[in-house]
Amino acid sequence: MSTEQSTTDRHFVIKASSVSKIYGQGEGATRALEGVSLTVDKGDIFGIIGLSGAGKSTLIRALAGLIKPSSGQILFHDTDLGALKGKRLRNFRLKMGMIFQHFNLFSSRTVAGNVAYPLEIAGISKPEREKRVEELLKLVGLSSKGGLYPSQLSGGEKQRVGIARALANDPEVLFCDEATSALDPRTTKEILDLLKMVNKKLGVTVVLITHDMEVIKRICNRVSVIEGGKIVEEGLVSQVFAEPKHPTTKQFIQGSSHEIPEEFWKPESPNRRLIRLRFKGSSAGEPLISQIAKMYHVDANILLGWIDCLQTTIVGTLVVELIGPAKGIEEALGYLAEKNVHHEVLIPNSPHEVLTSL
Ligand code: ADP
Repeated sequence: MSTEQSTTDRHFVIKASSVSKIYGQGEGATRALEGVSLTVDKGDIFGIIGLSGAGKSTLIRALAGLIKPSSGQILFHDTDLGALKGKRLRNFRLKMGMIFQHFNLFSSRTVAGNVAYPLEIAGISKPEREKRVEELLKLVGLSSKGGLYPSQLSGGEKQRVGIARALANDPEVLFCDEATSALDPRTTKEILDLLKMVNKKLGVTVVLITHDMEVIKRICNRVSVIEGGKIVEEGLVSQVFAEPKHPTTKQFIQGSSHEIPEEFWKPESPNRRLIRLRFKGSSAGEPLISQIAKMYHVDANILLGWIDCLQTTIVGTLVVELIGPAKGIEEALGYLAEKNVHHEVLIPNSPHEVLTSL
């Protein structure tokens, strides 16, 4: 599925409108979600990113029908989750796949036994279960490990079992609750690749929560940034990366590895500007820096540069020091804007303030 869909060919699977959740009552009450609205479309890998305590777990549980919001509405296609009760609610939950940070496997069951569990609950016959378990273990690359117990597996293998179990009843949506947070970077990549394969090959819509922008960058097409129970920014990952607006989003995008040496944080001057440029798509292919040097007699000293590959889009970032006549600098910035290069002037009062505002 294209990540740059038009709004007309989008079909939502989940639509949350003004969802709030308050835990407890009176003085001890915690407002975990406040007026959250979002739309997950069919085929999305939808990421929700936020720091600890932001409300991610509450939100994903509400979207999966595991907890009821205090107010607001969550639609799954045309079914209002708030109206589901008893057997209908249990049947709905059976059709939702979910995986967890700490895998939540039964230690007393084998790998095959864990994957078979939701099929048993759904009343599938033994021969059918065995066939399905075999298919699922093959899908996640664990065909030879069906007889082992979770304690005999690596973290990545445990999460593969979690994924196979979550897919057992052919869910339309797979919810991932910090699914890679307990894994090392290489295993994280393997599990994310597996989720991507599940999304593409089986057409399963994925909703994930994470505190790690690398996860969003690697597999998501859409992202919502959550802070203090509210969505502070949302959109296509490529857009949000190229033009982050909220300071929290900027902090998530700015990796700690990208730091500018302190000597470049000089006081602002009309003849010198420190700017960050974000190039997306076709603008990345034009020699814009040499063009502004020629056209406006502005020198560009490149301090930092990196490229982020986001699904189908490449976003390039450059931090440059522009030196030249004040008018030339203004005109050069206008020219870059015309070319759809998003720029931000970095005006430091102190290195610390600038680093956190990157
Ligand atoms: P995150 O997943 O982003 O860390 P959570 O959704 O777990 O955030 O928590 C959001 C807020 O709600 C936090 O302040 C947390 O302490 C509170 N909270 C979460 N679950 C409960 C609960 N069952 N009872 C009371 N407060 C809770």
